[in-house]
Amino acid sequence: MNPEPDYSAAYAVLHTDAGDGLEGHSLAFTTGRGNDIQSAAIQALEQWVVGRRVDEVLGDLGAFSREMVHEPQLRWLGPEKGVVQMAVGAVLNAAWDLRAKRAGQPLWQHLARLDVEELLDLVDFRWLTDAMTRAEAKAVLTRALPGREEREALLLERGYPAYTTTPGWLGYSDDKLERLAREAVADGFTQIKLKVGADLTDDVRRMKVARAAVGDDIRIAVDANQRWDVGQAIAWMHALAPYEPYWIEEPTSPDDVLGHATVRRAVHPIKVATGEHVANRVVFKQLLQLRAVDVVQIDAARVAGVNENLAILLMAAHHGVPVCPHAGGVGLCEMVQHLSMTDFVAISGTWADRVVEHVDHLHEHFVTPVQLERGRYRAPLAPGGGGEMHAASVADYTFPDGPQWRARGAR
Ligand SMILES: [Mg+2]
Repeated sequence: MNPEPDYSAAYAVLHTDAGDGLEGHSLAFTTGRGNDIQSAAIQALEQWVVGRRVDEVLGDLGAFSREMVHEPQLRWLGPEKGVVQMAVGAVLNAAWDLRAKRAGQPLWQHLARLDVEELLDLVDFRWLTDAMTRAEAKAVLTRALPGREEREALLLERGYPAYTTTPGWLGYSDDKLERLAREAVADGFTQIKLKVGADLTDDVRRMKVARAAVGDDIRIAVDANQRWDVGQAIAWMHALAPYEPYWIEEPTSPDDVLGHATVRRAVHPIKVATGEHVANRVVFKQLLQLRAVDVVQIDAARVAGVNENLAILLMAAHHGVPVCPHAGGVGLCEMVQHLSMTDFVAISGTWADRVVEHVDHLHEHFVTPVQLERGRYRAPLAPGGGGEMHAASVADYTFPDGPQWRARGAR
């Protein structure tokens, strides 16, 4: 469903005249064409950013978020979905990166140490209160107050659980799938993921190969990348059921809340997961209200930044549903790990049945690349939100004038 992606990013940098050498860096991930549209959407937000007082903006990122999300004219292009929402996300995440750097803290720690009321002020509760009021969100955060320090220490000591998508890409031979699946287990992963949905006979065979390779104790998630209609999803999953898939990810359209609910009822006890293409907190709200998903998959760069993801994390915790972020792309592992770590310390207060996706490529372009150890993300210590790329990578790969593109004859 996402064939031939050309992993790309619209890259946003906030500069200040503070003279402290600190900048806010972030990105919106795209799969190639469309990156220029995403960049233009980010530029369209300039009037809300350029010339503002840094202390004022960073001191109230809840207000900054609302200003951009409710931009009176750009809003028409959504509302609150698609390129404009992703642009708000890029700018807001850059602001969070700058704020965390100024505080000298990694973003997860910066967020997880905020007061309950400060966290609540970051969230836009409009359209959410039939599923979660501010008082209910406060109850979630208050419940997690005891033990924050202990969990922070535990996180620093043990890291956060990850799973790997590396073995299961479509197009790998059975031998390669088997070898990579075994390697993943040897590396300490307790969950792997297979892409499915191209050919049922192939998928049944691949699932059998993977199950034999990893044994009964390792979770195997499968990901259809939206390929199916509802009935097709159910039939396909019934065929894979003997090999005990753990979750089916994106079985159908990310907008089809009722469809997910139908699939979930039909394929139980296989879990249903979605989120990497879910446009905003309102769709997540409905997925939770209708019990349409067992696993919520936030993405650092899909919605309106840290603030909207906090709303989603709070709703998921309020409904008792685990969040297992999507992270296949450019810089998404680097960024989203901070949100799961915040969730562990200050929101849900648990990592039970929670894993952050890990995809093993493109990390070399980032100033603070993720560090995996025995199937777990080591908690980053460097100040910031993780989305900063090396200046040389940005210069080399900027489209269309960077040397890497010129060498390919890009126009
Ligand atoms: Mg996926």
